[in-house]
Amino acid sequence: MKPYEMTAAALASALRGKELSAKETAESILAHIEKTEPEVDAFLTVTADEMLAQAEIVDSKIKNGEELPPLAGIPVAVKDNLCTKNIKTTCASRMLENFVPPYDATVVAKLKEQNVLFPGKVNMDEFAMGSSCENSYFKPTKNPWDTSRVPGGSSGGSAAAVAACEAPLSLGSDTGGSVRCPAAFCGIVGLKPTYGAVSRFGLVAFASSLDQIGPMGRTVEDTALLFRAICGQDKMHDATSKAYNFEKYADSVKGKRFGLPKEYFGKGVSAEVKDAVYAAAKDLEALGAEIIEVSLPSTDYALAAYYIISSAEASSNLARYDGVKYGFSTGREGSLEEMYLATRSEGFGKEVKRRIMLGTHVLSSGYYDAYYKRAKLLQKQIGKEFSSAFEQCDALIAPVTPTTAYRLGEKINDPLQMYAADICTVPVNIAGLPAMSVPCGFDSKGLPIGMQLIGPKFSEETLFTAAACYEKAKGGFAVKEV
Ligand code: GLN
Repeated sequence: MKPYEMTAAALASALRGKELSAKETAESILAHIEKTEPEVDAFLTVTADEMLAQAEIVDSKIKNGEELPPLAGIPVAVKDNLCTKNIKTTCASRMLENFVPPYDATVVAKLKEQNVLFPGKVNMDEFAMGSSCENSYFKPTKNPWDTSRVPGGSSGGSAAAVAACEAPLSLGSDTGGSVRCPAAFCGIVGLKPTYGAVSRFGLVAFASSLDQIGPMGRTVEDTALLFRAICGQDKMHDATSKAYNFEKYADSVKGKRFGLPKEYFGKGVSAEVKDAVYAAAKDLEALGAEIIEVSLPSTDYALAAYYIISSAEASSNLARYDGVKYGFSTGREGSLEEMYLATRSEGFGKEVKRRIMLGTHVLSSGYYDAYYKRAKLLQKQIGKEFSSAFEQCDALIAPVTPTTAYRLGEKINDPLQMYAADICTVPVNIAGLPAMSVPCGFDSKGLPIGMQLIGPKFSEETLFTAAACYEKAKGGFAVKEV
């Protein structure tokens, strides 16, 4: 097995056993990126020199017999909405095309301290708005399982890079499903942590009350390694982060009770997706878990509530791109107002402008009560319904996406259809819960299907336990030959 094909756990142990150097890992990954990128287009920036220098440090530490953190020498691809000091952070937007942050996001700083290797920054939907990665200003990323199809979004580059073995691990962000949807479409594991479990400092804000940074990997163990490395309180920089440390997970689901929320298996969800998720639930049952049916009656309203709340927050967060402070600025002459208008018209893509308009509309006086306030009430209701479901079970099992990966261009001109595909993921963000996408088979076209595990706040341990038991029972997850 070549280093680029190895899991993070295998790389870590080979490194410690001196069977492999960090330099060899870095070189293998970089060569594979070069070979794969023409087809997959996951990366926006490849930081080869920096990565080789990071590898050299790891190798010298090993040579000196120094104790290494678990992820030392392991490559992690980083979504391009996470600030990286002296490395371009574009958010896949023309607005930030040449933005070079003077600081690192907390997650990046943490990984740097742990001597992680960074192959580069990966593609996404502009400002993380989208479900297919087609809203990138630069290029669409392709699904490694079928390059005529989307990888999912918005963390499409993060998922495609891991699925195509361009990195064993990556970081994405999830505001309404952006880690889980691409993980499902690309057949990998992705975690949206509990709101507050991971510091958001240095994550370019989309909807601050919903955004969370999440780990992605090809195995449950790898994903857990990365989660462990990034979670925890950030007293300095993120007041919403909590003192939570994820340590380990169990190796049995005996006695655990999982609920199938019936609203998640309704119309719009393809028969193949439903069958695969039901089959995965049966597998967990065979491992000693109990499966029950539960109901989350307000699920139908979650999509509307999500698009109102997230757009409202986005319209406020994106006000900072005014052509003055940083980022793109129009070259046109005129008054201050004309400069704002031209900068924002030229700097933002269609979807981002749509969200800003929607957001300012629902917040404007006269509409605030009718839209924003009602959406916030619905948010409470949705949270309550999850809480009562969790009185009956330890976690929920549901689909991640209603279908498998669709063709590039198939939904891009129909925003409502694109929004509708988020139905199974947005309720989780609305309620601030953790949820994981776990590969659970393939459809008749050979495209990956994801099962979603949803738990109460800070129940990541339960999700990892269920996912790991399921993975073991299946003999591991299929990896795309590349
Ligand atoms: N697809 C959803 C949206 O476009 C979710 C995006 C995300 O999680 N960043 O808003």
